[in-house]
Amino acid sequence: MKSTLRPLSPTEEYVRDVQPAVSPHSSIDSIPKDRTPGWSRSNRCASCNCEELETVYEFGSIPLAGAFPTTAHCPQNAAYPLTIAICRNCLLLQVLELIDPHLLFDDYRYLSSVQLLEHFRQYADTVPQIVGLESQSLVVEVGCNDGTLLHELYARGFTNLLGIDPARNITARIDKRIAVKNDFFSRSLAEQIRDERGRPSLIIANNVFAHLPDVNDFLDGIAHLLDEDGYFVFEVHSLADLISGHQFDTIYHEHRFYYSITSLVPLLQRYGLHIQQVDHISTHGGSYRIFASAKAANIEVVERELGFESSLGLDRLLEYEDFSRVIKSTISRLATHINEIPEGHQIAAYGAAGRAVTLLNCIPDAAQRISYVVDDSPERIGRHIPGVFIPVVSREALADQPVDTVIITAWPYKEVIIDRIRSTVTGPMPRILMPLPSPEYVE
Ligand SMILES: [Zn+2]
Repeated sequence: MKSTLRPLSPTEEYVRDVQPAVSPHSSIDSIPKDRTPGWSRSNRCASCNCEELETVYEFGSIPLAGAFPTTAHCPQNAAYPLTIAICRNCLLLQVLELIDPHLLFDDYRYLSSVQLLEHFRQYADTVPQIVGLESQSLVVEVGCNDGTLLHELYARGFTNLLGIDPARNITARIDKRIAVKNDFFSRSLAEQIRDERGRPSLIIANNVFAHLPDVNDFLDGIAHLLDEDGYFVFEVHSLADLISGHQFDTIYHEHRFYYSITSLVPLLQRYGLHIQQVDHISTHGGSYRIFASAKAANIEVVERELGFESSLGLDRLLEYEDFSRVIKSTISRLATHINEIPEGHQIAAYGAAGRAVTLLNCIPDAAQRISYVVDDSPERIGRHIPGVFIPVVSREALADQPVDTVIITAWPYKEVIIDRIRSTVTGPMPRILMPLPSPEYVE
């Protein structure tokens, strides 16, 4: 089944005027009110195609989380409306604004290897055994990023690999013995791969399933490509963790979907895919690793997960109204807390990933207090957080330009980051502020 969602076009008639966020760090007085093309707003659910969408929260204008501008004038500093809505029919929480995927991912600056090496080592040690993978079986990874996981699989003797990712600047880092296609996965690409390489026993999609321009076309392609005895194993952020941890910072245009098992079951079923196993993992502040295949669902697993989500209220619309109030109060508390840090105290943040973009752009006035954002990815250093336009620097800045407080914006990596701060700072240790679920200093 093909989705009937409207295709994206930069010339759509309902492209609105969007003003780039004004930056306190910018040397320019005013930024031209250019039209910002490349987005549209959907009035239909991206999964079930119904029109029963109910707005949960409007964030206002937020820049793209994967864009790291070099200058205030460059297109990567543009901001776009960001609204989340819940589908009354299938209960999929989703972003309504559709950004041209080329704007989102052609120049992506997220490197798996920086934070996820250990995670993918464990993955390569366990998942092939769970799905009974043989060494010559074809494995396709959609959204392979810099090949961190593919390299781990290759090292364990699984050499029949294909990586798919549109970001050429990132896939250029992959070992040349591993085949790569720089493209978006789709039904038509699935047909091409099946003709060229046959049907994979394992299709992997880690942290890509939430980013899709057309989730129905994607799953149509997965179902067409996957071997009839094969597994589709994907990792997505868990809505239960998002809501219970007040993680509004993980909401951005790249993350179009916030999945629960409740919303995933009907979506997968539409393409003959059924849940066999659900692992709760700690990645990105709480994620699911889901094993799906064409076999009948593991009823025990599905009922356990649905029961858990029901106990949290995720199968009722009322819970989402409450989430709206939680986002508002969390943002307000965080801004107040930062504003109350005494004048003259120097503040930095650590972690320039997408979370920092949403978080800092939701508290633009308080963010003016932040001198710089430390990051460990060479792809981001020397650039800026879009919108609030705060410079992204390497961690040596903590020694060269000491601060009194460090806000850990990449809080899922709290332990690693605190160790790095301790090993870098030469003078007194700054106070460490965790922004979520409520602002709290680490003792
Ligand atoms: Zn729906």
